[in-house]
Amino acid sequence: MSDDPLVWATPAGTPSLGAAQGLGHRLFSRFRIGTRLAAMMALAALVSALLATMGVRGLAAANESLRMVYETRMKPVRNLDQVAHLMLSNQLQLQLALARPGDSDLTERGALSPELARQAARAIESNMLEIDRLWEEYSRAPKEQTETDLAERFAHERAVYLSAGVKPAIAALRSLEHHSAQRMAGTVHRLYERARPEIQALINHQFEQAHAAYEAGVRRHALTLQLSLGALIVSMLVLGFLGAMLIRSIVRPLQAVGTVFRRISAGQLDSHIVVEGKDEVSTLLFELRAMQRRLLTNEKAIYDLAFFDPLTHLPNRRLLRERIQNTLDAGADDAAHRALLLIDLDNFKNINDTLGHQVGDQYLVEIARRFSAIVRPPHSVARIGGDEFVVLLDHLPAAEAPALARAQAMAQELLDGIARPCELPGQVHHGSASIGICLFRRGGTTIHELLKRADTAMYQAKNAGRNAYRLFDPALQAELETRAALQAALREAIGADQLALDFQVQVGLDGHAVGAEVLLRWHHPVHGSVPPAQFIPIAESCGLILPIGQWVLQQACAQLGAWAAAPHARHLDLAVNVSARQFRSPDFVAQVREALAQAGAPPERLVLELTESLVLDDVADAVDRMQALSRHGVRFALDDFGTGYSSLAQLKHLPLHQLKIDRSFVRDIVHDRGDAAIVQTIIGMAANLGLCVIAEGVETPAQHQTLRRLACTAFQGYWFGRPQSAAQFEQWLAGAGAAPPTSPTPSEPTDATTTLP
Ligand code: C2E
Ligand code: MG
Ligand code: MG
Repeated sequence: MSDDPLVWATPAGTPSLGAAQGLGHRLFSRFRIGTRLAAMMALAALVSALLATMGVRGLAAANESLRMVYETRMKPVRNLDQVAHLMLSNQLQLQLALARPGDSDLTERGALSPELARQAARAIESNMLEIDRLWEEYSRAPKEQTETDLAERFAHERAVYLSAGVKPAIAALRSLEHHSAQRMAGTVHRLYERARPEIQALINHQFEQAHAAYEAGVRRHALTLQLSLGALIVSMLVLGFLGAMLIRSIVRPLQAVGTVFRRISAGQLDSHIVVEGKDEVSTLLFELRAMQRRLLTNEKAIYDLAFFDPLTHLPNRRLLRERIQNTLDAGADDAAHRALLLIDLDNFKNINDTLGHQVGDQYLVEIARRFSAIVRPPHSVARIGGDEFVVLLDHLPAAEAPALARAQAMAQELLDGIARPCELPGQVHHGSASIGICLFRRGGTTIHELLKRADTAMYQAKNAGRNAYRLFDPALQAELETRAALQAALREAIGADQLALDFQVQVGLDGHAVGAEVLLRWHHPVHGSVPPAQFIPIAESCGLILPIGQWVLQQACAQLGAWAAAPHARHLDLAVNVSARQFRSPDFVAQVREALAQAGAPPERLVLELTESLVLDDVADAVDRMQALSRHGVRFALDDFGTGYSSLAQLKHLPLHQLKIDRSFVRDIVHDRGDAAIVQTIIGMAANLGLCVIAEGVETPAQHQTLRRLACTAFQGYWFGRPQSAAQFEQWLAGAGAAPPTSPTPSEPTDATTTLP
């Protein structure tokens, strides 16, 4: 389970991001991803446009500088240069006109070549026109003050040159006046020399200006280049940073979403998801958080359902088992004792039956509340069934005595807690419980075994009268286990042909056999010969007595049927023991009648032995059933008589035929006057009620004599014959049993009695 907060800005497992980054994420997450991407694209487009504009403008500026160099500086330079050349040309034309070809001394001769003079005049005129045009063109261009000043000075010299030099020179040429021409040539030359520095100054000025413009252009170009590159780098950095932030603002939250998914799929539902921002991923995280909460709620509900009792909210059997297992699995060095206290509320069923299940539930909730208040960690309490709770005491002392004392103290505390009056709708209930305590240590046993031990001890507490606790007793446990094993084996007994019937003779006063009692035998291949006193109660408790009893009845009736056809045996009664559950079964009467009919046995020879407790449990019903069968001819004997404190008043309503004096009175009858008195009373009482009497367990001639003296008329016991198989019994009947004995001879312990007293 992790407590890391899972914020989309700081995904799980990552140390928290820097403050600026966190801020950036928070800023970004305010906008949807689409908006963010569109804004980024727009910004990139804007930066590109700015860069392009900057470049274009820089190029334009550089271009303008070049144009300026050429247009406003180089062209005038050329014009001015031409003007200078034209003026020089005038100079040369005049010298050409004055110098006759082949004539070295023209001055002296005083004549001009007309043709050359005219040519020179025309050329000079043309030059002057061209100079005017060039100057005109130059003059039109705007100028700064320095240039204007220089231009005006040259214009003045040019005007002087024209008026005082060139024009008179042209006139002299046209008039072919050599001398004048020669003189004017000198003037023109002089004026030209005067004007030349002025125009040169202008040209130089232009060159300087052109150079300045050129240098400005170069600087502008370099600046543009630097600015563009700088802007490009800066914008690339800014856009790169923003792009990285943008990518991160999308990728990191998506990673966080992935982490959440991983944790959820791994079943870890307690991550603290903090959702910031309003973008798509935030929405997704928000939904995830809602989903996680729902899953957590559901998981908790599932966990509660699986491990807790919905009514009391206490741990259920499953969680208890886990906890017990943990204590059993404790480390080898753990010598501490633990204890299980199995608590079963006494008579809880009564609350349910009388006040209703809702009140029963209320009572359980209140008891659970009291237990929870008493049992504090490291101990725990669980509800494992309707009214069954288990307290697991952990970390008890390693020594047994103090551990036991602590467990007993806790049991007493729990009993006290339950004993406090509980206000229920309709009544104030004073409850109690039975608690079974079982002490244990790590390893060596199983949960099942521990719960079984606690259960055994709890039943001991119940049997001890409830509202008590008992410690687990291994001897009792062994007995119960044997009982359970016998019960399982008994289920197979009839089918496996392990049951058999023995017959024990009953004799009359004259020593003749008057009947026999059928005694059930169980020969188990492993358990050996199991005495009926051991397995009949088991068969009773688990209901197996019904099929077994029916089988005994059928076998006994079959034997009666067989005896009815044998002259030496047809006078014998056959007594069959009937258990309470068998007698109370709805179709018991029908079963007996059917068994008799099927075997063709005479009903008047059948004696059913009932016990006092069986009959007295519900006298009216017993009387009904007995009468129904009595009408059919069947008779009844009251077995083990004298042990059940029957009252005479009740006995006289029963359609009984015989009382069987329990052998506990016969055992010491010879020496114990009390027993003899009881037997005498029973015999007297039977005579008053018109009942026959038979004494059980007659083992010695002395007992026989005493009983005879007390007017007992029939006897059963080892002295006359031990229980034996049908074949042995018939063999005995056919022999010595048919004739009345003259003197009593004790029976051999193992063999059937062949000689009667
Ligand atoms: P019970 O009906 O009182 O049977 C008489 C018991 O006394 C028999 O024990 C018999 O073997 C024993 N016994 C007879 N003579 C003497 C004697 O001289 N000395 C001593 N010490 N014992 C003598 P068993 O066979 O062990 O039967 C025990 C009880 O089991 C019976 O007591 C009866 O209650 C029950 N039982 C036996 N067979 C059946 C049956 O088929 N159905 C039912 N429901 N119970 C039966
Ligand atoms: Mg009996
Ligand atoms: Mg008996």
